[in-house]
Amino acid sequence: MNISMYNREFVCFFVVELTFVIVLAYVCLTSHQTVNHKTRIHKQARSNHSVKEENVSPEELRRETGQSCVFPVHSPSLVPCQQNNLREKRRILKEALPWLDLETTLNASKTLLPGGYHQPLGCASPQRLAIIIPYRDREVNLKILLNNLHRVLQKQQAEYAIFVVEQDNSTPFNRGVIKNIGYLEAKARCHFDCFTFQDVDLVPESERNTYWCGARALHHSRELDILKYRIFYKNHFGGVITFNETFFSAINGYSNLFFMWGGEDDDLFHRLLKKEMPYEFSRYPRYTALTHKKDPHHTKEERAVYGKSHLRFKNDGLNSMGRLYRLISVDYKPLYTRIYVSVNQTEVLTQLKHYGIRL
Ligand code: UDP
Ligand code: MN
Repeated sequence: MNISMYNREFVCFFVVELTFVIVLAYVCLTSHQTVNHKTRIHKQARSNHSVKEENVSPEELRRETGQSCVFPVHSPSLVPCQQNNLREKRRILKEALPWLDLETTLNASKTLLPGGYHQPLGCASPQRLAIIIPYRDREVNLKILLNNLHRVLQKQQAEYAIFVVEQDNSTPFNRGVIKNIGYLEAKARCHFDCFTFQDVDLVPESERNTYWCGARALHHSRELDILKYRIFYKNHFGGVITFNETFFSAINGYSNLFFMWGGEDDDLFHRLLKKEMPYEFSRYPRYTALTHKKDPHHTKEERAVYGKSHLRFKNDGLNSMGRLYRLISVDYKPLYTRIYVSVNQTEVLTQLKHYGIRL
């Protein structure tokens, strides 16, 4: 009797001890993982320009840490942000500062985090925004844009991350593919409510030109200084536009089959019409266009081919990106996340050939 009581007590004691050890081990493990994730991201913040993502995919990072976003999002305040004192006309900063100076001035308030991620302090922004900049070899434009855009977005109390999607030099520039990559790669790293596609050479002139998304596609850059603020042409839908996720996936993103100069924006406008999607224009649509060297325009034959591109939109876009690109590297730089990619031109030509088009 005494012995069996002793046994029971021993078993009880053993079970309690074991549970305690298991709980302790779990707490240690999870807190270690969270700290690890944070230090990794913050280490990237402090170090210089070319720290790699240590070849860890966002999915792996997420699995490792249990967090849903690669950016260190903090719990938002319960107070909604107010957009007060936004100036209708702001002074454009046109100087291309050295990177270090730019990083120091833009991060003076220390609210900017690695990858160009910003979350307002003390209030909750209603949406999280991904800014996607298609990019190759326009460093002066990029510096000037970042210097202005970060200031405008922060004045607007926006929660955002900036992605510069850079195509390597091995194949002709393909804006549609690059913008689709920006959308997919941003989505793979965090949940975003809105996606803004922003040309590197267009600087917003008004703080009231709000970067946000509603139920319609929003065209921001309707009036450019170089065109004396006259509307470029009626159906112009290029430069700077914002979509919500449902909307952008409903039109299957941009066409992947335009390379070299332009056209993918007109095609996108036709996709909107085809799907009878609503769109609107910013009430503060003025932009300053920065100078750059011009790409040759399409030939008449190419234009004829591209003119019918929207008829293929169901199979040409986000759902045909599979073999079209290779991710070379991802760097969480102080002012932006650099997504460096290579576009497979042979695959673009193969897809065109599939539609009976040879270029
Ligand atoms: N772009 C780039 N490098 C290039 C070509 C284009 O970065 O060599 C990007 C950049 O964001 C630019 C956008 O694509 O603002 C539109 O191209 P571009 O400015 O040449 O078009 P345009 O001003 O002639 O409409
Ligand atoms: Mn341009």
